[in-house]
Amino acid sequence: MRIEQLGDGEPEIAVVGGIHGDEPCGVRAVEQLIERDPDVERPVKCIVANEEALAADTRYVEADLNRVFPGDPDGDTHEERLAAALLAELKGCTTLSMHSTQSYTGTFAVLAEETMALAQSICPYLTLDAAVDTSAFTEGRLIEHEPVIEVECGYQGSAGATEHASMIAEEFLAALGALPGGEPHDEGVPLYRLTHLIPKGAADAYDVPATNFERVAAGETYATIDGEELVADEPFYPVLMSPNGYENEFGYAAELDGRLGGSAAGDERDRPETPR
Ligand SMILES: [Zn+2]
Repeated sequence: MRIEQLGDGEPEIAVVGGIHGDEPCGVRAVEQLIERDPDVERPVKCIVANEEALAADTRYVEADLNRVFPGDPDGDTHEERLAAALLAELKGCTTLSMHSTQSYTGTFAVLAEETMALAQSICPYLTLDAAVDTSAFTEGRLIEHEPVIEVECGYQGSAGATEHASMIAEEFLAALGALPGGEPHDEGVPLYRLTHLIPKGAADAYDVPATNFERVAAGETYATIDGEELVADEPFYPVLMSPNGYENEFGYAAELDGRLGGSAAGDERDRPETPR
């Protein structure tokens, strides 16, 4: 784990890339921040998490790091030990963790029950297409254990994902008063709540004509399996859907559940405080 600091004092803000070794966007964003070394008004911890997986260009070495939190300093796997070490580093910090996907070129925040309140105050400051409440679908993720805003920055390995990651990191630091500027977006961020997995049977060829975050109407074809059309019984919003991203699922169905921020919330919103 690489750890660098911007500014002096005990950091209450952290920016993390490289939780997954095959998602370089967040790593580049952290490296750019370290190289640029801006004058910060609050100290910031910059972390590249899984250097071993990055060196091997693989998601993880022994276990998926974002499924083994809180980890264990004496754990059997590299990632269990790393999870415990990373949590110790992030204690007392409000953190941004950057990821990328195989399903979407834009940006969206991944939220859990534990981070909803934090997301309400910070996400409106970030350039996000959406925020997704994923509570109850996976366990062992960093967002369940510390005040962390997790952002999917774009398509894995793309230049676009790196650009987004750098922009989001700057916006996050501005939202928390570490960098100047920082204005909430007037329109806020649409919030989706995952409702169920969309299963995928074994086949040779998959296609997903549906577009993530765009409503699929009842009767609409959302995917094909070896040319056979899968038609929606009920309307839903596809999230993290792709032909080949997961082995047994296309992705998730979600419902729209309001917005985070936006002009309806008024212009008097204060800059978010760092929760302690
Ligand atoms: Zn990831």
